[in-house]
Amino acid sequence: MSRPGVPAPGFVKRIGPIIDERRAVQFQQLRSLDLMNRLTGAGMPFDWTVNPYRGCEVGCTYCYARPTHEYLGHVDPVEFEERIYVKQADTDRLVGALRRARASGQQVAIGTATDPYQPAEGRFEVTRTVLRTLAAVPGVSVGITTKCAAITRDLDLLAELARTCRLTVNMSLISMDRDLLRLIEPRAPRPDLRLAAVEALASRGVPSRLFVMPVLPGLTDREEPTRQLLGAAARAGASQAIWNVLFLRGSTRGFFLAFLGREFPWLVPRYRELYGSGAWVAPSYRAEVDRMMERLAAAVGLSAIDRDERVKREGPAAPRQLTLSW
Ligand code: SF4
Repeated sequence: MSRPGVPAPGFVKRIGPIIDERRAVQFQQLRSLDLMNRLTGAGMPFDWTVNPYRGCEVGCTYCYARPTHEYLGHVDPVEFEERIYVKQADTDRLVGALRRARASGQQVAIGTATDPYQPAEGRFEVTRTVLRTLAAVPGVSVGITTKCAAITRDLDLLAELARTCRLTVNMSLISMDRDLLRLIEPRAPRPDLRLAAVEALASRGVPSRLFVMPVLPGLTDREEPTRQLLGAAARAGASQAIWNVLFLRGSTRGFFLAFLGREFPWLVPRYRELYGSGAWVAPSYRAEVDRMMERLAAAVGLSAIDRDERVKREGPAAPRQLTLSW
């Protein structure tokens, strides 16, 4: 970790000029020798990551990736959504890394600490460059995680990848309540638009599943709205629901609890009871959510697993840790 306000040594020489500014958001170049990074730690359900950007304009209040901006010298967690770094793609090196991933049979995850279809993608097309490169390396196992309906821009390319690679799109949607989401995920597309994207993907043979991550205690954990969410996802064509309860790590904790105090102050004592001073929710609450999700998913015909089960099924076999360079 860097000193507060100072980029970590590995980043200093990589930070390039500001290349665009829109409203309160600044876009800056980030030179990256490798767009793809291999994980070297346990606990993640994939083996390689591609994050085309650093920072994310979508601005979810619960985003666990906010602390990653500290490596770039950003102290205020809000800068995660206001200072977006655009990576440069060296496609030759990316082809080499994709071939190594293919040979290993391991999964490549696109969008683990940033949304690959956030607004910046409309201008800089780094994700599209990654997908075009993937098309040249058939046989790779790849998952794309997004909240953005803009993924449909790449329908043709994704349909091709679904035929040549083992591709899954993970559509992240935690509720069908658009007013609630407007507060919690201020610049994410409406729920109906995200599900329309799932439907469009399904119509082109692109498999997708629903990410209900995170489940937010007191906000998105009620039975009937959850039933509606899972039912709508199943009708749109998602095959599976994967969930995880909110965890509050590093600067995300203070940022989210401050948001809660402003918008839902009556829930603050409940969160203090469930989380104490730690990052993880009380196991009894988590078990309740697991039971509800399994039951509701089965009722609407979705297969269902929680995040830990996904790590067991899809994750690495050996202990590793996330490299600093992503
Ligand atoms: S879309 Fe994902 S990466 Fe972007 S702010 Fe939301 S949770 Fe974070």
